[in-house]
Amino acid sequence: MKILVLGGGGREHALVWKLKQSPRVEKIWCAPGNGGIAADAECVAIDAGDVGATVALAEKIQPDLTIVGPELPLVNGLTDAFRQRNWAVVGPPQQAAQLEGSKIFSKQFLERHGIPTAKMYGTYDSPAEVYDALSSVAWPVVIKADGLCAGKGVFLAPDFATAKNFVQRVMEKNELGPGGKRILLEQTLEGEELSFIILTDGKQYAPLVPTRDHKRVFDGNQGPNTGGMGAYSSDELLPDALRETIRSTIVEPTLRGLVADGIPYQGFLYIGLMLTKSGPKVLEFNCRLGDPEAQAILARMDFDLAEILSDVAAGHLDPSKLRWKPGSSACVVLTSGGYPGRFETGKKIEGLTSLDNITGVKVLHAGTRVISDTVVTNGGRVLGVTAVGETLEATLAFAYHAAAKIHFEGMHYRKDIGAHATPLRAAGD
Ligand code: AMP
Repeated sequence: MKILVLGGGGREHALVWKLKQSPRVEKIWCAPGNGGIAADAECVAIDAGDVGATVALAEKIQPDLTIVGPELPLVNGLTDAFRQRNWAVVGPPQQAAQLEGSKIFSKQFLERHGIPTAKMYGTYDSPAEVYDALSSVAWPVVIKADGLCAGKGVFLAPDFATAKNFVQRVMEKNELGPGGKRILLEQTLEGEELSFIILTDGKQYAPLVPTRDHKRVFDGNQGPNTGGMGAYSSDELLPDALRETIRSTIVEPTLRGLVADGIPYQGFLYIGLMLTKSGPKVLEFNCRLGDPEAQAILARMDFDLAEILSDVAAGHLDPSKLRWKPGSSACVVLTSGGYPGRFETGKKIEGLTSLDNITGVKVLHAGTRVISDTVVTNGGRVLGVTAVGETLEATLAFAYHAAAKIHFEGMHYRKDIGAHATPLRAAGD
């Protein structure tokens, strides 16, 4: 098989790394890829959100299968363009990608199908309407910009003044771009958060191993939100009873709802949940694998990813084929100093080769590039040091030992990934 992977972060490096292990795979391209992916695949410098350029690339290289990593190509209709041409592709159609691309679409979908979620106060097209509505909400209130806002569109406002300030920035100053044109207000939920990710062909589905990520930049969940500072996975994280509750009250009604709405969903579906006193409730959908969760999940994969994703594209997923390594995995993200604010790039990365042949550790690249044989930083999240092991404790120690061998100027990482791991339960169990 010849495979094209779209995207250029840690998630895509993890996909390329696993696909390359399949005896069926003859060649992999990645667009645009990054400095680490370039060692495992042929990178093509096109913008993954550019549907026209991607179609032209696929026409030229004729892949047997295309796998979409990030949300932008999905929201832009890439998979629809591929399916119209009868090209095998993994990723939901544009209509389904609105589950991620529009918070309002997703909330209306959840309400229409009676899937547990935070109560919505309303949706608003102008700041005046929001200020008016804010006079009759319970505090704190959750404010969500409707469209894609690079993770900055959700705000938990403790009072009217901070709520107004956020709405002004989003709707009046357009700080988040077109994603901030409409706003939704909803009730604040309390509990622990859990990411539940499935792979589906629209009929059958298989849950992936449970993971948790760490979004704040500093230890102890301090500092601003990021795209993800690390993640870990272990079976103990999710007790069987809670997994069954999530399957029956969230996952299956969601898949039935998609069928009822005539939306053929196919690919990864990430469900962000809050485990509240009255059971799990949906916070958000993402139409793709999360990152860095993808790195922790793929490290535990014990099946042929190329085979399974071909099955998904062809509409005959067999969930029993997804087997997982027992034990644990962890991913520690190394970032540029200053991230998620301003940071410098072009810093030489040292120590990578010392980790090349260590079984159980893989350094996945996110923001890197190669300049005349030297790997340098090229983004905020630079590397994901990913390890597998028997116990979570040993796995984390392994990942941190490896991370300490890498160095670049300004490098930062959290020292407490997975440190407070306790099995989750729906509060009130
Ligand atoms: P979202 O992109 O909708 O998942 O929101 C990002 C983050 O905001 C979530 O991971 C939660 O931490 C938080 N959040 C979103 N909606 C709510 C809610 N209704 N109640 C409490 N926290 C929320």
